[in-house]
Amino acid sequence: MALTVVGSIAFDAVKTPFGERERMLGGAATHFSLAARFFTEVRPVGPVGDDFVAEQFELLEARGIKTDDIERVAGGKSFFWRGHYDFDLNVAHTDDTQLGVFGEFEPKLSDAAQAADTLFLANIQPDLQRQVRSQCAAGFSGLDSMNLWIDIAKDSLLAAVAEVDCVVLNDAEIRMLTGESNLARAARAVMAMGPRAVVAKQGEYGAALFTKDPATGEESFFALPGFPLEDVRDPTGAGDSFAGGFFGYLDGVDDDLDEANLRRAMGYGTVLASFNVEEFGTERVSRLERAEIDERFEALRRMTQFEGLPAPRD
Ligand code: AMP
Repeated sequence: MALTVVGSIAFDAVKTPFGERERMLGGAATHFSLAARFFTEVRPVGPVGDDFVAEQFELLEARGIKTDDIERVAGGKSFFWRGHYDFDLNVAHTDDTQLGVFGEFEPKLSDAAQAADTLFLANIQPDLQRQVRSQCAAGFSGLDSMNLWIDIAKDSLLAAVAEVDCVVLNDAEIRMLTGESNLARAARAVMAMGPRAVVAKQGEYGAALFTKDPATGEESFFALPGFPLEDVRDPTGAGDSFAGGFFGYLDGVDDDLDEANLRRAMGYGTVLASFNVEEFGTERVSRLERAEIDERFEALRRMTQFEGLPAPRD
């Protein structure tokens, strides 16, 4: 059981209708790791600048996250993202993206990172995702991305998609990547490129799972709503927390990654994402306890129970 993740490790400036932060710990690999740590040993890979100091390393290490593959580049600046949300929290508006040390990054995975059972290519330039993929022969791998890379690096992103087992993208991004306006057709088009599973994230509305059994080719569909919350402050990192819960849980599972396990993983992804959005950045998930996850998972399971209901009356 070990999980390697590559993706941005960053500082974020975020403004939502409910508050703002000028500089907080962020990045796709950071949010992912903070969620996945509840289920398995997680190892983020990526560079940071000298603005990433002991405080940030200690926050991660104190939560059991292995930081030896986070490379500190002397004289460099960490990835920086500035964004805002208007009243519709499902839409992030990017105001600034500074790649910083990611611009020159050439990944060289440690032996431990290469030996992971599960690999997640969180959001970052798709060529970097592919370089990491080529160094890690994990039995199960996944990928996330975003509209920026579909716009400026679509061919490399399509090549990266073909090299993983499971793609996790926003529904609009799946449509944009495939040129298919219907989500079911778009997901099938992604699976035709190689992956056996596609998760379509739908913001506050939840997430849908499309799968194709590798042995029989049988297709399945499953979906969960977002966990109903009355206080949502900042959705930044929700998708990465979802992926951290999803892949973290799957890495911790001993038996085959069958449909039932994938559906349970959807539940853990949903729960981790719901905690993430309650406060800014990593604030809530950083002090989350395992018992809170289990309680919310059980509540979600009860509220979505459908099979086993008495038959409908005429
Ligand atoms: P999410 O809200 O889950 O889509 O992810 C938000 C996180 O992604 C933030 O913490 C940002 O630091 C990071 N991020 C934003 N833009 C990019 C990008 N172009 N590449 C990689 N990471 C990014």
